[in-house]
Amino acid sequence: MDTPMDTPMDTMEALVQAVATCTDCSLCETRTQSVPGEGSNNPEILFIGEGPGLHEDQQGRPFVGPSGKLLDGLLGLIGLTRPDVYIANVVKCRPPNNRDPLPEEIKACRKYLDQQIQLLDPKVIVTLGRFSLVRFLPQETISKVHGQPRLWGHRYIFPMYHPAAALHQGNLRHVLEEDMRKLPDLLQRIQQEDTPEGIVEETLEPEQLQML
Ligand code: URA
Ligand code: SF4
Repeated sequence: MDTPMDTPMDTMEALVQAVATCTDCSLCETRTQSVPGEGSNNPEILFIGEGPGLHEDQQGRPFVGPSGKLLDGLLGLIGLTRPDVYIANVVKCRPPNNRDPLPEEIKACRKYLDQQIQLLDPKVIVTLGRFSLVRFLPQETISKVHGQPRLWGHRYIFPMYHPAAALHQGNLRHVLEEDMRKLPDLLQRIQQEDTPEGIVEETLEPEQLQML
């Protein structure tokens, strides 16, 4: 029988299929179904959360619970809807009781997110929360770098707080909104091939970061 990695994931359909049947970490034992991600096949922006929660595990779709409602509202602030972007997660299966994903789970799932980035080729990757941020910028903390675009290879990483954080800490909602409102300007500047003001360039190459 084929294991997922026997199938080259050279299309999104193949990737989604591989994720659906993946048993490469122990999260496969407790999931209802995996949640590969969804959205445009050619997005300017890729949003990356942490991992599926209860509702996502039940429906097989990312950000469909309370955090998802908040994310929809944030997208609406800048005139976007879900089909305009792509929404994925660091791990594709729900950690039991929404515990943090373990390093070995993140590592086992890494190939899928790497391939999603290759296939979707977004201009901007918005990291939602800590686990998504450290996947790209392992040295950074979210309170310091949220809302500040960072050049990463030929893309930008744009760190944001996780929407769930604003559900627990009301004042963060305003911060999330403020950060979201910076995205159209960043995209416009990228289109004009300007280096946006105040950009810090990541000194490690993406390939080196993947070794971390
Ligand atoms: N939180 C996440 O990080 N991802 C989801 O898909 C839903 C909630
Ligand atoms: Fe596979 Fe990722 Fe799900 Fe683990 S979390 S079983 S690596 S798809």
